[in-house]
Formats: sequence, structure tokens, C-alpha cells
Amino acid sequence: MSTSDEVTALTPGGPQRVEVLGAEFLNTTVKRFTLSRPKGFRFTPGQGCMVAVDSDGWRDKARPFTFTALPGARTLELIIKIYDEHQGVTWRMRTVGKGDHLLLGEAFGTITYKGPGVLFAGGAGITPFLAILRQLHQHKALKGHTLVWSNRTAGDVFLDAELGRMLGRHYLKTFTRENVIGFRDRRIDRDDLVQLVRDFDQRFYLCGPESFVTDLKALLLDLGAAPESLVFES
Ligand SMILES: Cc1cc2nc3c(=O)[nH]c(=O)nc-3n(C[C@H](O)[C@H](O)[C@H](O)COP(=O)(O)OP(=O)(O)OC[C@H]3O[C@@H](n4cnc5c(N)ncnc54)[C@H](O)[C@@H]3O)c2cc1C
Repeated sequence: MSTSDEVTALTPGGPQRVEVLGAEFLNTTVKRFTLSRPKGFRFTPGQGCMVAVDSDGWRDKARPFTFTALPGARTLELIIKIYDEHQGVTWRMRTVGKGDHLLLGEAFGTITYKGPGVLFAGGAGITPFLAILRQLHQHKALKGHTLVWSNRTAGDVFLDAELGRMLGRHYLKTFTRENVIGFRDRRIDRDDLVQLVRDFDQRFYLCGPESFVTDLKALLLDLGAAPESLVFES
């Protein structure tokens, strides 16, 4: 999916033009955008849409991103990891700010909430879980949910305080590239899962880079998780 035709195809009547009401960095590479919400624009937590920057040379380059605000909020929110290595859409988003405009396609499903369980996020793969957890928090229904968030380094973490407040000891962080005292410092392996999960007869949500999802899926199945208990973007 990468052209404005796809934004248009996904959106009867054409893409929605929204204004950037606010933009701020949550760490050096992750940026939060607050957007105006078109009348009647609906989504459920876990859904995203195709997004293009409404400026010359960029309208035909749409990429998928996930809504992170509550579905009832007056504004929309996107949290976007910027890749600076090449001049793609996220590189362009680094300089998008208040008063600029984006083009949004129709909301489509990424991860659907199906009940309590363990949520495994890799890096920016946290975004669908943010919307889901925020809604569960609003409904005081977070009991029975654990978030395991894997990042390269502690500097990649964002919204740490909010996640800690929501989930308390059910918010676990792992790092793959940094030796941080008090945290484990490698990819999640079989032994980690046995320690972290204990009960494999529950639901597991997976979102992140392809290798992260593939590896965890294989480990969870091997440890006895039922295939139908795994929720991931396919
Ligand atoms: C359903 C869905 C929901 C998503 N939601 C979110 C979200 O909420 N937040 C978020 O941050 N991300 C999200 N993503 C990921 C996001 O869509 C990608 O990060 C984004 O499309 C990258 O766009 P880009 O134009 O900057 O990079 P692209 O040009 O599309 O490149 C994609 C990949 O190729 C590599 N690459 C391509 N060309 C080069 C080059 N010349 N040099 C170096 N590397 C290169 C990049 O490393 C990158 O990983 C989501 C993805 C999906 C599928």
C-alpha cells in the first residue's frame, strides 16, 4: 500500500483532509501528532489508516499508521517512529507541524481486542495497544492484562509514565541492545516466556517488526498456547 490511489480507494468520497493541531517529539525518533477529527470519522481501538502528507510531492505516498487516542476523543492522535535513513514518509513527518495538513484514508483493522491477555509489543508496535489499553483504563477494565514491551534501548521507550500508571507491575520492559541495570538485555527467549507468562492457556497479542511477531508466535505455540489464542496483524 503506497499510493494516494489507495487512500482514495479505501475512502469512499476521497481521503479526509485533517489539520495538525499539535506535534511533539516523545523521544528522539518518535513523534506524536494531534489531528483535527473529521465529522463522522470512526475507528475502534487497534485500527489504523493510510496517511499521506498534504504537500507537493507527498500526496501520492500513503503509509499505514494506527490511531492511539480514545475513539470518543474530539481529536485524533498518531504516534509515528521517524526513519531518517532515507527520504520516506516518516522522514517527511519529522518536519510536519502545527497548521500542516494530512490526508487520511478510511480506518481499517490492525489488531482487534478480544479480551484479557498478554500484549507483546516490539518498538512502535505499541501503538494499537495504546489505544486498546487507554480504552480499557477508561472503563476500569485493565485487570488481567499484562504488557511486555521490547525496545532496543531505554531511550526508545515513550509514554513510560502513563503505561506505568495504567498497568503498574503488569507493565514489563525488555531491551535488546542496551545494558540497563534492573532490566533484561536481550531478545525475549523461551526461558523468559516461561518466567513472564506461566499460564499459556490465555490470549496473546503480538505487534511489532515481522521477525518479532514470527519468533514470539513460534515460541508461544511451542510452549502450549493455542493457535486461536494468538492475536496479531496478518
Ligand atoms: C497496519 C500498520 C499500522 C502501523 N502503525 C504504525 C504506527 O502507528 N506508528 C508507526 O510509527 N509505525 C506504524 N507502522 C509502520 C509504518 O507504516 C512504517 O514505519 C512506515 O510505512 C514507514 O514509511 P517510510 O515511508 O518512512 O518508509 P518506507 O519507504 O516505506 O520504508 C519502509 C522500510 O524500508 C526501509 N528502507 C526503504 N528504503 C530505504 C533506504 N533507501 N534506506 C534505508 N532504509 C530503507 C526502512 O528501514 C523501512 O523499514 C504501521 C504499519 C502497518 C502495516
